Amino acid sequence: MKMAIPRNLPLLIIADGVLLPGSSMRVPVNNPKNMVMVKTHILRYNTLSSTVIGVIPRRAGSEKDDLSEIHDIGTAAVVVQVTGTNWPKPAYTLLVTGLCRFKVDKLLQEDPYAMARITQLDKVPGDGEEDMSSVNVAETFRLHANQLLEMLDVSVPIVGKLKKVMEKLPLTRLPDIFASIVKASYDEKLQVLDAVDIEERFQKALPLLLRQLEGLRLLKEAKKGGDRSVLPPGLKEKDTIILKPPRFRSRDAERRDRDSDGDEISELEGKIKAAGMPEHAAKACEKELKRLKKMPAAMPEYAMTRNYLELMADLPWSKESDDTLDITKARVDLDADHYGLDKLKKRVIEYLAVRQIKNSLKGPILCFIGPPGVGKTSVGRSIAQTLGRKFYRISLGGCYDQSDIRGHRRTYIGSMPGRIINGLRTAGVNNPVFLLDEIDKLGKGLHGDPAAALLEVLDPEQNFTFTDHYLNVPFDLSQVLFIATANSAATIPTPLLDRMEIIHVPGYTQEEKAEIALRHLVSKQLKEHGLTEEQLQFTEDGIKLIIARYTRESGVRALERKLGSVCRAVAVKVAEHQSRQKSIASPSVEEEEKKEVAPRQRPTEDALIEMPPEMPIVIDKLAIRDILGPAIYEREKSERLSQPGVAIGLAWTTMGGEIMFVEAAKMGGDRELTLTGQLGDVMKESAQLALTWVRSHAAECGLDQKTQEDLLRKTDVHIHFPAGAVGKDGPSAGVTITCVLVSLFSDRCVRCDTAMTGEITLRGMVSAVGGIKEKVLAAHRAGIYRIILPKRNETDLEEVPKNVLSQMTFVFARTLEDVLDAAFEGGFPHLKRTVVSEDVIPSKL
Ligand code: ADP
Repeated sequence: MKMAIPRNLPLLIIADGVLLPGSSMRVPVNNPKNMVMVKTHILRYNTLSSTVIGVIPRRAGSEKDDLSEIHDIGTAAVVVQVTGTNWPKPAYTLLVTGLCRFKVDKLLQEDPYAMARITQLDKVPGDGEEDMSSVNVAETFRLHANQLLEMLDVSVPIVGKLKKVMEKLPLTRLPDIFASIVKASYDEKLQVLDAVDIEERFQKALPLLLRQLEGLRLLKEAKKGGDRSVLPPGLKEKDTIILKPPRFRSRDAERRDRDSDGDEISELEGKIKAAGMPEHAAKACEKELKRLKKMPAAMPEYAMTRNYLELMADLPWSKESDDTLDITKARVDLDADHYGLDKLKKRVIEYLAVRQIKNSLKGPILCFIGPPGVGKTSVGRSIAQTLGRKFYRISLGGCYDQSDIRGHRRTYIGSMPGRIINGLRTAGVNNPVFLLDEIDKLGKGLHGDPAAALLEVLDPEQNFTFTDHYLNVPFDLSQVLFIATANSAATIPTPLLDRMEIIHVPGYTQEEKAEIALRHLVSKQLKEHGLTEEQLQFTEDGIKLIIARYTRESGVRALERKLGSVCRAVAVKVAEHQSRQKSIASPSVEEEEKKEVAPRQRPTEDALIEMPPEMPIVIDKLAIRDILGPAIYEREKSERLSQPGVAIGLAWTTMGGEIMFVEAAKMGGDRELTLTGQLGDVMKESAQLALTWVRSHAAECGLDQKTQEDLLRKTDVHIHFPAGAVGKDGPSAGVTITCVLVSLFSDRCVRCDTAMTGEITLRGMVSAVGGIKEKVLAAHRAGIYRIILPKRNETDLEEVPKNVLSQMTFVFARTLEDVLDAAFEGGFPHLKRTVVSEDVIPSKL
């Protein structure tokens, strides 16, 4: 390849080496000027000419970073490779290959890196060669060069390469190449670099070549005669290019090491044999065992190989638990463990029935989607129990890397298998139930997509040969029953979603929660705290109070925690009681002795009165207030809604449904709209739409002239969506914002018994929204029993439990006029009705 050398070259100044044309070297780059040059010149441009730089020596030992010490002849070189590191501090290493000599004519710049105008001094390869016929010394040089190559070890890459190309190499190139491979001092190499005249270059390089030859010859002879002292003066053994054979440890030392490891290895061997591996895995183990036996135990690889073999031996290749799939029993078990959840249980039973008939697990995997604490994990555990299988939960939240699933290759220090193989090792059988928790929280990192790896795990066509990178042999996952859980389907990668059978688990109603607490949570908590029903009893009223005033959630996790707090408080009392009783009933020997001395220290009447009341301790409303403190969630709706500019919206988040007090304020200004609260972009658009609609319908909403003027021209509006720090987005707040604005400007209050949800269009249509069931339950939880819903959502109410529906009133709205009529006492008689035909209502969002 012919390479043009630019006239202006950036300079790489090196202190302790000389690069000669035709040879390559690695140059560490760590001084500031050179670093800047690499960063801004080599790495920024990607043209061929940008990789050509001038490598120029600096006087050895000169520390200065200034340019007065640089040599005036250098070598134009092409940068073949740049590697970088950040540790212990930023540095690069360049692999450069010399092309030709150049002379520095003028320094063009010193900062941020040196740049010089140069004159090329000799030809670059491919540019034709100089006539060598007059140079007598050239042929002699070639002769000696060949001799040198003969004496060197061809297994050294550079020697082998040189031997191959020697025939074709133009004579002119030889002095530079050989001067750079023989041992020579910095000054000697500098002299070869300075020899611009070709004859002079041969003259300078020849003695170096001869000296090397002589040294090698003497060394060979000395080796033959066993005498190493006959090296020419000034030449040490290390100056010769001969690879010394690696030093071996004495056999005895090795044997000693091995004996102590021998037992360990044979134990491991036994374990591997007993593991019942398939042939491919057994073979891999055999190979590794062989290696292990040869390795000294001190080698880091020894531990790595042993860990690997131990994992292989531990894995349940052929260990499985007996499957006891019996649909009738499964139904009874699921009912016994969980209250309610009828739809979920029905689907699970169907799923298991199909598997029983087909006698295989192939097919989509189950995925439970719902807010936290609704029993997704716990149903998974029950399924495992009823099937008689081991249960193992793999949390996928924050899993950013495919190696989390599929492991690291064993070449890394500290490499590990992925979570699937780890899970199997812990489960100890090859047919456990794996719960893939929070599959919607899978991350996407730099090193491969974990979702793609998971897809392989879940695909029944592929997963019988799942290969973990660490294991490096396939493991059959086809017997594993996978169940996934998620809070929302929206963030599950679509290909994964395709493989799954989604079962939605809605939140619970207040009544359901009370039942769950009474039937399951209380006894679970009592057991966990070492209490019995004889010691502690919850009343239904007490539990209902906790549900209504101390928790606000779709699931029952906080409720369970609160019950736990009560148990702890009672446990203290019970423990105190027990220790007192003990001290009365059976005083210790020391106390007996003390009694002799001071009989008056017996428990007095007072102490007996202080003792807690008779067991069991009954937890009623009063006790709850006492133990848990003042209620956390007071009913705030009536007081909040007693002023204009507030309305109750219903929001859906991954935590379930929530009620949300939307508030607005107005002030003098120039029509600016401010929004606060945790909002997404869609919410902002809803607010804009609502404000525009109110402005355009100001008169019909019965606003007086002045307010209309203000609204249109000189009012700033601020809308706030409080309700916690949960991000709210999605188009469902349009109707609420409109009501808030109308309330604010008309100075009328929104009905305090009403919550609403629905999106709007610019023309005032109300369109359907999602999450109706969750929203209705949230309103019900908060004690709001009247809801304005989009007409289009009417059918979604089928999913809401009957007992909740029977307590609620719904108003179905097609247009904003319907909404306003329902939201305000007395409605808005002056509003012009928008004519609605079914087909103008936008479809469900
Ligand atoms: P999730 O996995 O949905 O976040 P969990 O399965 O961890 O929720 O449930 C939280 C707690 O609530 C568990 O102790 C679970 O047993 C209990 N629980 C939830 N729903 C029910 C139910 N329907 N019946 C009995 N216990 C329940």
